[in-house]
Amino acid sequence: MVTGSFLDVFDMPAICELCRNDALEAVYTPERSQRCIRVHICANCGLVQSLPRADRAPRRTAAVSSGADWGNVRYGKGFRTQIAVDAVLRHRGRADSISLLDVGSNRGRFARAFLAEAPNAAVVAVEPDERVAQSCAELERAELVVARIEDAALESGRFDVVHSCHTIEHLAHPRDVLADHWRCLKAGGLLVLDAPNIALIGADDIVEEWFIDKHLTHFSERTLVRMVEAAGFKIIEKPDKTDPENLFLVAEKSAAAADRVAGDWEEVEEAHALIADYLAARARNLIALGAVAAELTALAPRGVAIWGAGRIFDTLVVHGGFDTKALRLLIDTHLREHVGERHGCALTGPEALTDARPGVIVVMSRGFAGEIAAEARRFAPTAEILLYTDLLSRARTRLAA
Ligand SMILES: [Zn+2]
Repeated sequence: MVTGSFLDVFDMPAICELCRNDALEAVYTPERSQRCIRVHICANCGLVQSLPRADRAPRRTAAVSSGADWGNVRYGKGFRTQIAVDAVLRHRGRADSISLLDVGSNRGRFARAFLAEAPNAAVVAVEPDERVAQSCAELERAELVVARIEDAALESGRFDVVHSCHTIEHLAHPRDVLADHWRCLKAGGLLVLDAPNIALIGADDIVEEWFIDKHLTHFSERTLVRMVEAAGFKIIEKPDKTDPENLFLVAEKSAAAADRVAGDWEEVEEAHALIADYLAARARNLIALGAVAAELTALAPRGVAIWGAGRIFDTLVVHGGFDTKALRLLIDTHLREHVGERHGCALTGPEALTDARPGVIVVMSRGFAGEIAAEARRFAPTAEILLYTDLLSRARTRLAA
């Protein structure tokens, strides 16, 4: 008899990462998953989680897909830097000698911004991706650990602050890692945590696959708060209810970890309802994208520019059948650093608007639509500006008529 072989791992029932119950129920198979992911809801506590918890798949080249295979383009974290720096400095003095652990430090954008504002602080930056970690190597008052946070073996009680931005959702065992953050903190130390908010899947204009392969736990405010509390923290700043995209919270190391996390039937019901709404809205919107594509193609003689070449644009091509030949310009200020073209159309910066003079600029963004529209007006004051969400809503109305 062979015991303890790796095959046993596959026979073991999967355990909920929050309540440790084995009542995980498969509810959904994401589109274009490369890791054969299925989304599950814990029937006991309502935590939404992806199985298998494959967090060590080989790295692939950048894929700007709207499906679950959305790849290694990590540019979203940078937008969250100042929010986190401000949060630390609300609770610690600027001149204090703060010892901070930066989990998933990426290219060091947060570490740089924080060290610039806190002149006596020191940072330990943990980042597993050696290609990006090296950009922290030359930073003064910073120590770089090229490792996964699970393997970093940091000393107990060393830090005043742990900062973790859009990392926890990637981890196979988030509750264990939170417990390890607790261990690494001094008594009363701060956890500054940021994660995607599953509430976003309730957006009326959702078209992209939200359950991407790289995200293994899909937190609601309630499940994130409960997991942080279960790891022995007290929440001192709750997530902002008006932000549907991010769950940003500040917690303090307090009591010891909980032995047991109770069930939460309301959360179970809410998770089921949210995913059912997501499936219905997304199916309806993907059909409407065909009508959006037709409208943009009809506008082509006026010269159409699209600003935003990310996941929403990808759905327009993949599901709406939009032919990018109808475009005069495709603008994306962030993705340009990672990829040169999307669906046969070269990416340009907004400065190209001046010469190209499109009659219509379509803003293909949800979170940054207002900012992009304002920028577009500055570069092309006479162009008509259309928001993707309005185009989609018009298309849905037409289809329903
Ligand atoms: Zn559970």
